[in-house]
Amino acid sequence: MRARFWGTRGSIAAPGPGTTRFGGNTSCVELTTPSGGILVLDCGTGARLLGNRLLAGAAKPVSATILLTHTHWDHIQGFPFFAPLFQPENRFQVYGPEGAHLSLRDVLAGQMEHHYFPVELDQLAARISYRDLCEGTYEIDGLGVRAQRMNHPSPTLGYRLESAGRSLCYLCDHEPFFEGLWREGAPPGYMESILDAGDRRHAEYMQGADVVIHEAQYTPEEYPSKRHWGHSTYEYVVALAALAGVRRLYLTHHDPSHDDDFIAQLERKARDLAARLSSTLEVWCAYEGCEITL
Ligand SMILES: [Zn+2]
Ligand SMILES: [Zn+2]
Repeated sequence: MRARFWGTRGSIAAPGPGTTRFGGNTSCVELTTPSGGILVLDCGTGARLLGNRLLAGAAKPVSATILLTHTHWDHIQGFPFFAPLFQPENRFQVYGPEGAHLSLRDVLAGQMEHHYFPVELDQLAARISYRDLCEGTYEIDGLGVRAQRMNHPSPTLGYRLESAGRSLCYLCDHEPFFEGLWREGAPPGYMESILDAGDRRHAEYMQGADVVIHEAQYTPEEYPSKRHWGHSTYEYVVALAALAGVRRLYLTHHDPSHDDDFIAQLERKARDLAARLSSTLEVWCAYEGCEITL
């Protein structure tokens, strides 16, 4: 498997001179499967650039699977600007969590109603199928996929993708279930010492993964005023990844108010913490163009 980041920003695109290093586009990761299939993880504004690259490539017609974690703007706004959807010879399967009231297809159609966008979903020329997912195990493009609910204000799924003994988790967006992660008095470093069953389940989900891509929008100092907005701190993510024996951790969904210097500093702090908690965990803050080979 090979992954490439096309959008690393959370909430809203943040272009400008302060974000040229880590990027201003919202969530989108391209995954190339061992058989050469293309999986698009989230369709934030970064998907526009990926779509253009796919159209310029040699593989015609374009065929891909779009796997959405949820339908907040920063994960779907690139969908109507994903140019391969406008060509009749191309084929797509779109997967995402079933909503509480509307199907995945209807939610995507909603952002393309004429009040918001000039082309409606039904006018997209490509052959597109939609499938609502819930927690469970699936086979998608030859990959084993385990979907698990994230702790987020909208129905949201994380994905653990497995192929030939390699594993990549894509966990975006997610908030700690409980702020005090460790049971009082218990030494951190054991699954049993995680206080909340939800956080324990989250850690177990990424157990032993080769690569985890996890949102880490806030610093611990920012978090108290953003509680219940559905996002993590880098401290929480690094602590759980270290405990779960993750090898490589990519922090993403950077806050739009964090410029490159701030994110570079956050990366240093996350690495210092990782070094204290684990001898093997490597940590990066993801940037547009960042590539991962498994
Ligand atoms: Zn988001
Ligand atoms: Zn969200």
